[in-house]
Amino acid sequence: MENVIFPFPLIREGQKEFMEDVKHAVEGGNILIAHAPTGIGKTAAVLAPALQYAVENEKTVFFLTSKRSQHKIAIDTLRLIKERAKRNFVVVDVISKQSMCPRAVSIYREFYSLFSEFCRSEQKNKRCHYFMKRDEEALRRIRESIMHVEELYSWCTTRGICPYKAALEVAESADVLVCDYNYLFSADISERVLEKVDRDLEEIIIIIDEAHNLPDRIRNNLSSELRMSNVTEAARGLKHTNREMYANLMELESIFTKLTMKAGKTKKEEMNVAKDFLVEEMEKVLRRRIEALSYDDFVNSLRSIAEGFETSKVNKDELFQRNVLGVADFLASWRTSEKCFRIFSLSHKENPSLHFKLLDPSVISEPIFARAHSTIMMSGTLCPTEMYADVLGIGVASNWIKGKEIVLREYKSPFPKKNRLIVVTKELTTKYTKRGEEMYRKVAEKIGEVAKYVRGGVAVFFPSYALLKSISVYLPEGVRRRAIVERREMKKDEKNRLYETLKNGNEGILLAVLGGSLSEGMDYESNMLKAIIVVGLPLGPPTLEVKTVEGYYIGKYGAEKGKLYGYLYPAITKVMQAAGRGIRSEHDRCIVILMDYRFAQFPYKNCFPSDYDMIVTDGAEEYCRKFFK
Ligand code: SF4
Repeated sequence: MENVIFPFPLIREGQKEFMEDVKHAVEGGNILIAHAPTGIGKTAAVLAPALQYAVENEKTVFFLTSKRSQHKIAIDTLRLIKERAKRNFVVVDVISKQSMCPRAVSIYREFYSLFSEFCRSEQKNKRCHYFMKRDEEALRRIRESIMHVEELYSWCTTRGICPYKAALEVAESADVLVCDYNYLFSADISERVLEKVDRDLEEIIIIIDEAHNLPDRIRNNLSSELRMSNVTEAARGLKHTNREMYANLMELESIFTKLTMKAGKTKKEEMNVAKDFLVEEMEKVLRRRIEALSYDDFVNSLRSIAEGFETSKVNKDELFQRNVLGVADFLASWRTSEKCFRIFSLSHKENPSLHFKLLDPSVISEPIFARAHSTIMMSGTLCPTEMYADVLGIGVASNWIKGKEIVLREYKSPFPKKNRLIVVTKELTTKYTKRGEEMYRKVAEKIGEVAKYVRGGVAVFFPSYALLKSISVYLPEGVRRRAIVERREMKKDEKNRLYETLKNGNEGILLAVLGGSLSEGMDYESNMLKAIIVVGLPLGPPTLEVKTVEGYYIGKYGAEKGKLYGYLYPAITKVMQAAGRGIRSEHDRCIVILMDYRFAQFPYKNCFPSDYDMIVTDGAEEYCRKFFK
């Protein structure tokens, strides 16, 4: 790897191979999809060759992350490269505009439309002094040093300039931009950002960190839910001030009632709703008004009402504003021309809801990958790589997309195999037909038996809060005394406190859910988790949404792949994410116990990477005892 400035004295096993693949991808303008387990040192291995190529060929690297916590490692690695290279390159770390705005009140973080209007009007009317002030010295400093976004924020606000504006000004000359997925995968944001940084997609090298999150993130970006109670509350707030809009919202509420009756007749809790149904039902009413309105006029009127509110008023007003904006944003995005599924649900009986979501993320990702100079997607759980290629629209059989080579790679974990033991219990399951007191009791007893032999922290991850609760009731006293329990309503800082308790307690037992922040993304330091127990397979309940996605993929890829893509792999990814929390360095040791016999059976077993060696046994506690002996 001549010329590449690697920031560490040693290149790890697997890291060199990954670096060579990255170099090949950026030099050839190709796409690399890499399943790279923890420990390979992905961030340094991807940034060093990509940056080298970008600097020499006037390209910009977009290092995209799904979480704010992932920015730090990228920035720290770039600092190390800079130290070793002793040459200058420009790096800018940014997050969303509203999160970087020193004037943003909390409601702006929830409703981008409201914030955007506020910011636009403040700029236009020269009321934002942060925006008005220019400070070349501040920009020079951002250009010359590599700042974490928090440092950039406090540096700019201390000097009285807008952090977001400053970051994007410097980004024009940046070699690397560390930012959220939305900077490229949310159409309106990416257009603005690319224009600001004066770059075409063809000049960009995309690196996607924790890329297993990308399909869902793209889907969720184009999704929304509206509860009937939001409509009722929004209407109530307008009852005495705007009779016409009050009446319009009550009509919207009556559409929910109509759908409830229709669902009642078919005895179904959920049903599909056509896009035009809502639009036409609303327009029927709106056109009859003295001053006839279109559907879009109605949405705009709601927005104007919400924007007219002073956010500094009492909380009650803010709640009303939230409801009105929630209704307006939902109705506006409901009309999207992208292919979405739209569902009416009675799962909360007294409070029915309408929701929609993008069906196929490839409609957004494929054109981006086709145009970008090159793309590297990486994650410790990007397995199977073929599925991600298919789901993101680049899995064509020929392996070529518009002249680009698609390279799929699965690297092996560099950590000693003997440090991780994977055990599947024979008798236990959370299969729906086997659920009940007897099974819950058995699972709880097994958790107790295993926990007795673990020297250190334990994490037990459940498929849902409901199962966590049902099984916890039967946990033996010894486990209950050590238990640290995640609850559905917990906020981020409360979950961080759970982590601290576990870290300081040495022998705590964390009870949490799969797919949550404690089972994904959380970095358990210093081998604090010595055992990870996964209770059951977290297959999604057979909701209309799950069936619709599965049906779509069956139509696109055939029955076998369709079921895997729409149903099984998302569950296995959650399990692999949780199982990967135990070992973060080559000296860490951890036993993973998968408490469901289905993990060892077809088709589930085949969904795991080839280096997932499983022992199937009735005596998980015995393996545990020997492992810690
Ligand atoms: S210009 Fe900057 S500081 Fe002013 S409102 Fe907009 S984001 Fe906030």
